[in-house]
Amino acid sequence: MIKTDILIIGSGIGALSVASELCKYKRKILVITKGLTKSCNSSLAQGGISVALSDEDSYELHYKDTMIAGCNINDSDAVLKLVSTAPEVIREFIDTGMVFDKDENGNIAFGREGAHSLNRIIHAGGDRTGLRVVEQLLRNITTDVTIIQNEMALELRVKDGKCSGVITRNDDGEIHVYHANYTVLATGGIGQLYPSTSNDITITGDGISMAYRAGCRLKNLEFIQFHPTMLTIDGHAYGLVSEAVRGAGGILVNDKGEKIMEGVHPQKDLAPRDVVAREVYAHYLKGEKIYLDTRAVKDFRKKFPTVTEICEEHGVNVDDKLIPVAPGAHFHMGGVEATPEGITNIEGLFAVGEVACTGVHGANRLASNSLLEGIVFGKLLADYIAHNERTAPEITDEISPYTVGSLPDKADIQRQMMEFVGIVRHSEQIDEIIKWFEQYMPDHKDFVKLNIEKTTNDKFEIYNMLTTGWLIAKAASERKESIGAHYIVK
Ligand SMILES: Cc1cc2nc3c(=O)[nH]c(=O)nc-3n(C[C@H](O)[C@H](O)[C@H](O)COP(=O)(O)OP(=O)(O)OC[C@H]3O[C@@H](n4cnc5c(N)ncnc54)[C@H](O)[C@@H]3O)c2cc1C
Repeated sequence: MIKTDILIIGSGIGALSVASELCKYKRKILVITKGLTKSCNSSLAQGGISVALSDEDSYELHYKDTMIAGCNINDSDAVLKLVSTAPEVIREFIDTGMVFDKDENGNIAFGREGAHSLNRIIHAGGDRTGLRVVEQLLRNITTDVTIIQNEMALELRVKDGKCSGVITRNDDGEIHVYHANYTVLATGGIGQLYPSTSNDITITGDGISMAYRAGCRLKNLEFIQFHPTMLTIDGHAYGLVSEAVRGAGGILVNDKGEKIMEGVHPQKDLAPRDVVAREVYAHYLKGEKIYLDTRAVKDFRKKFPTVTEICEEHGVNVDDKLIPVAPGAHFHMGGVEATPEGITNIEGLFAVGEVACTGVHGANRLASNSLLEGIVFGKLLADYIAHNERTAPEITDEISPYTVGSLPDKADIQRQMMEFVGIVRHSEQIDEIIKWFEQYMPDHKDFVKLNIEKTTNDKFEIYNMLTTGWLIAKAASERKESIGAHYIVK
């Protein structure tokens, strides 16, 4: 058994914010991550961070925009905490050396994204904000933090509602049992449950599934944001074409050159993401090809180096001004129920970032609020740990008798998810997919804990996808009315 004070699962913005903040307190911290350190959605984030830092802005306005985007089912206290704490936390982050892009006068430049009432998005390296933030957080980490790569968390060690760490297996097949006073779940979202996604390959809903098996309360799982514009060639998605491209004048057209958002919504191409995603999807289902026409976007290569790189890697020349796109799963508003400080219903287990549901995003996330959530709530969680002593109980790990039989492949799960709990859902069909998932339950009753020695990491990943998919489908079947990202046809 390996003992540590604080154990963090994942290496995205949520995990690294907690780790870098706790360095100030000289605590022993272990970060365990499934792939390489930078394999996470945080490194891929192209848009930016929304924060009320400009002279015209206020946290009250940011609060209002966040609530409207979330259809007012957000947790208003959590939203208030996020937006009011954000300016100070971002200023402190800048003091550590983080550089955000400047305007011609040398002041921080503020960009615009859909549903923000004014320019409030800050960027770093143009469309490389996420990567720059991750790199700065890694620079802020001291030798008190050890990062272990290529090791997958399999099961949380929980007994009588108290967490004492996690069991993992690395890529060499070695199983490790960690005993930790504080265990932080920072495993990100669920994008890989869908066939087309902007998410990193490691993002398979493991956190939600492990939390479920450990007895955690989960919340708002039905709300999944689809991004309307993934670079898509022959039905395969190859990365995100940021909303900022439409903000800079990009227009969605079909193969006849007709503007598809015309007459659909007053904000046309900058309508809320769910509206645009549904429209693109409807055309896509009819067999039409949809493109982002970028003729009106000046200095495309300079403004969008990442998008340019992704396009050119896949044979699309941005100078032709037509980028083929289709929607893909992008962000999960739901997750493990947690307070802004990351506290869950399991003592000693915390959740931060996209795996957590603090309620700040409600039924739909306001663009660029999630990197912010990782940084701000990561700091609050670190402060909580620093000021609340805990000694985890010693527990004996029980060996589960369950193993899994034949499992579907990932593509099967992804197809089912897209068809039944994707952009458009049909109430009478959701029960079908719930039954489809349930055939894979080991005891035909529940997605129980598995025998770790007899289950490979690959099987665990598929099992986690099945468990999380099932939980999402059940949540979707319980919400009878359309709201935000949950669009249901009766
Ligand atoms: C292409 C793209 C663009 C985006 N653009 C923006 C933007 O401009 N602004 C914005 O605010 N948000 C944006 N988002 C959303 C935002 O990036 C994410 O919500 C945020 O980065 C999530 O951070 P996180 O730390 O919670 O998770 P991630 O950064 O996804 O990190 C999760 C980590 O957990 C690890 N992990 C997962 N399972 C396990 C396991 N079983 N064991 C061990 N480790 C595990 C993963 O490998 C990864 O390291 C974007 C997302 C994508 C995909």
